[in-house]
Amino acid sequence: MFTKRIGIDLGTANSLVWLAGEGVVLNEPTVVAVTVEDNRVVAVGNEAKEMLGRTPGNIMATRPMRDGVIADYVITEALLSYFIDKTVGRNRFFKPEVMICVPSGVTQVERRAVLDATLSAGAKVAYLIEEPLAAAIGAKIPIAQASGHMIVDVGGGSTEAAVISLGGVVVHKSARVAGNKLDEAVAFYVKKKYNLIIGERMAETIKITIGDALAAQDQRSKAQNLRPKVQEQKNAVPPSPTSNTPASPADRQNPTSSSSMEVRGRDTISGLPRMITLTSSEVAEAIMPTLIQIMATVKGVLEETPPELAADIIDKGIVMAGGTSLLTNFNALMTQTTGVVCHVAEDPLLCVVRGTGVALENIELYKRSISKK
Ligand code: ADP
Ligand code: MG
Repeated sequence: MFTKRIGIDLGTANSLVWLAGEGVVLNEPTVVAVTVEDNRVVAVGNEAKEMLGRTPGNIMATRPMRDGVIADYVITEALLSYFIDKTVGRNRFFKPEVMICVPSGVTQVERRAVLDATLSAGAKVAYLIEEPLAAAIGAKIPIAQASGHMIVDVGGGSTEAAVISLGGVVVHKSARVAGNKLDEAVAFYVKKKYNLIIGERMAETIKITIGDALAAQDQRSKAQNLRPKVQEQKNAVPPSPTSNTPASPADRQNPTSSSSMEVRGRDTISGLPRMITLTSSEVAEAIMPTLIQIMATVKGVLEETPPELAADIIDKGIVMAGGTSLLTNFNALMTQTTGVVCHVAEDPLLCVVRGTGVALENIELYKRSISKK
């Protein structure tokens, strides 16, 4: 067979490409660098990310999907062309079939624009799949069963929570609150408490290194000499030992609430570089309001779930996907808050692209959930 089939997860933070028969072949940040005057694309992906915050005046590096929306058609097409070219080569005698997954927050108009952009980027046929379905398929949830399953994808720019039954989305909510907002909260906290300005990437590093959703609570319960009940129940599904992606932080040791790190930034008053030590419980305090917002989306879906399906979900628990589900103890906090056991899927960063790829390889099976152009 000469026609290649590729699945693309156009995420707000990372874009991934799946090649049918091979698996994930590309994983790059969703960043595009364009010229300021005529909006011409100069770099995409890793190369463009290197430029973030370091560009000369005439070039601007942007994250076009930042809040789950597509900035503009030209940029989307450039992104897609880049991914398709990199995967199947520029010289396209046989055009590929492409399936794209976009955040479900995007409008009908934007969906159509993505399909059109995919075709002009060189696809023979373009398919679109709803993100919660792709995430669920990728998390190995048997979506076709006549039974309710809940998937929560917390990525960089948006949180998607959905209940799926019989291959379709029954209840769905999305919110433009996820990992990026956690980074902003960390940066805001450090600025307010220590008069220290830190960059976006430093804030993210802090979150990933010492962020712990239960650290604030842990501090409190230590004071009362109590341990929270669900403390032990972290990241229930272990990553498969055969997976060749880097060991996910889900299986690293649970940092104690006393872990801390040195943070460098610029003093707001003197303007000079300075260093402070930040603890896990401070980070937890900083990000808690945002975590509560994310969990409110999940609760909103649970509240609207028909009783039969709700009963299924109580039995099976909630499956979490997306990079932010790797935040230490986030699933434990979610379990406490919702009263339903939450598991982190295997390779949560890859669920959507894997689901998109699997759907593409089994189009007949999933055709109800797919739009085509
Ligand atoms: P998207 O689908 O929106 O592109 P991803 O699912 O790729 O998003 O997730 C990216 C987000 O996950 C980023 O905000 C990143 O900071 C966050 N993230 C990745 N790894 C971790 C981790 N170990 N702990 C906390 N957050 C993480
Ligand atoms: Mg995603």
